Amino acid sequence: MSASAPPAPVFQITKVYAMHSYPDVQLFIDGTWRDAAGGETIPVSDPATEEVIGKIAHARQADLDLALEAAERGFKTWRETSPLERSKIMRKAAQLLRERVGYVSWLMTREQGKPLAQSKAEILGAADTIDWFAEEGRRTYGQVIPSRFSGVAQMTVKLPVGPVAAFTPWNFPINQIVRKLSAALCTGCSIIVKAPEETPASPAELIRVFVDAGVPAGVVNLVYGIPSEISEYLIPHPVIRKISFTGSTPVGKHLAALAGKHMKRATMELGGHAPAIIFDDADLEKAIEVTAAAKYRNAGQVCVAPTRFLVQDGIADRFLEGFVKASQAIKVGNGLEEGVTMGPLANERRIPAMEEMIQDAVSQGADLKTGGKRIGNKGHFFEPTVLANVPTSAKMMNDEPFGPLAIINRFSSVEDALEEANRLPFGLASYAFTGSVKTAHALSRNMEAGMLTINHNGLSIPEVPFGGIKDSGYGTEGGSEAVEAYLETRFVTQMN
Ligand code: NAD
Repeated sequence: MSASAPPAPVFQITKVYAMHSYPDVQLFIDGTWRDAAGGETIPVSDPATEEVIGKIAHARQADLDLALEAAERGFKTWRETSPLERSKIMRKAAQLLRERVGYVSWLMTREQGKPLAQSKAEILGAADTIDWFAEEGRRTYGQVIPSRFSGVAQMTVKLPVGPVAAFTPWNFPINQIVRKLSAALCTGCSIIVKAPEETPASPAELIRVFVDAGVPAGVVNLVYGIPSEISEYLIPHPVIRKISFTGSTPVGKHLAALAGKHMKRATMELGGHAPAIIFDDADLEKAIEVTAAAKYRNAGQVCVAPTRFLVQDGIADRFLEGFVKASQAIKVGNGLEEGVTMGPLANERRIPAMEEMIQDAVSQGADLKTGGKRIGNKGHFFEPTVLANVPTSAKMMNDEPFGPLAIINRFSSVEDALEEANRLPFGLASYAFTGSVKTAHALSRNMEAGMLTINHNGLSIPEVPFGGIKDSGYGTEGGSEAVEAYLETRFVTQMN
């Protein structure tokens, strides 16, 4: 859509902008912060102002080789460190992260755009994740298996899989790393994190709390560069034993194929297109409040954000009216400003992606109920957008919008709702609101999704699974199964 938009909003420059200075970010390899061997850098910009605010060291093969050697040595040290000692270091890191939340959240909002309160919540949530994995790593129990032969003792032991390569995106700069990092560290693995180039400084502060807490050299390594160059080098490399990737489905399929070719364990947390099914017997106010908050959090750049709202006929008009009102109440602006509830999109390429999807849906007969345009011409701000009656042929009904865009369509029966919910190849999160136990049961049996949250939003906490099925990937990044993904099972049998 063209940007025949309202005049650019004037954002007040307040002292909070200048509260800290944005740092240049280095690589962290073998216990040392360092520039790239070749001295190359990549600029970093603020999505709210489009101003270049810093630069990061750009790793090439020479740096990756150092990181691989360090990770190999670090693994030997860390796997011999007792689970209790590992846990103490991790818990200290969590505590340091809590103490530094003010500075780190400022960095995150500056580089990523989300409101300061959301950055704080992400960081404090990350500290909880570290604590949870620190404890869970002390419970990686094997089994004693009764033998069918006399004089034979049989057991399994759980051992760390080895050095990990982790690739994480820019939407949750810390949260996407902390799940992989915590699971790797609590099991005794070393790790090379390829953090997001768009949002590099807050991840570097996450690494710093582990360093300051006493993680030995080589156990944790941090690089930035060209994502494809780094993944093509690290995944096949013999030192690396496990891959974990969060990002889009096409990239995930490519990396999973590469991991498969080289027989590497992999966890893939990929795109979604979450259905939110609202039944006639739902608590309407609550459904609107919970789903609008989930939709516009982080400007919709969330893989578990509800996108296809399927609303039963009897409640559909009232839900639409209420959701549009909730969308119009969102205060868009610089995430550092007091009272702002939605920041800019994190990078420039999301604006044309959103505009193209909206134009396509409207040209196919969808009703644009609110929003639909970029706001102003400085910063990547976009209006909270609601479309109704969107045909299934529209691009937005099939591709992940990854922005502040809600599709509100109607349905009549549970079967119709399930058919639409399960139509896509994605299967990450799903939401439902109903007063009926029978309906809730039918959904929990038949929804094709890795996660289903009914009558509230209960996703993304450390102790529960977080992951998808179908094209949304495999493996989970929460709960005890997330720890399993970093362990191998060794069977030992011994005759007296
Ligand atoms: P993209 O597909 O270019 O990149 C997605 C992520 O993968 C980025 O972090 C990128 O650095 C990384 N990446 C890309 N190619 C890679 C490679 N060959 N090796 C290793 N890493 C690689 O898309 P984008 O424009 O950054 O984001 C848009 C889409 O990505 C969204 O529509 C969404 O589907 C998906 N995405 C998903 C998540 C998530 O939480 N699952 C997060 C960010 C982006």
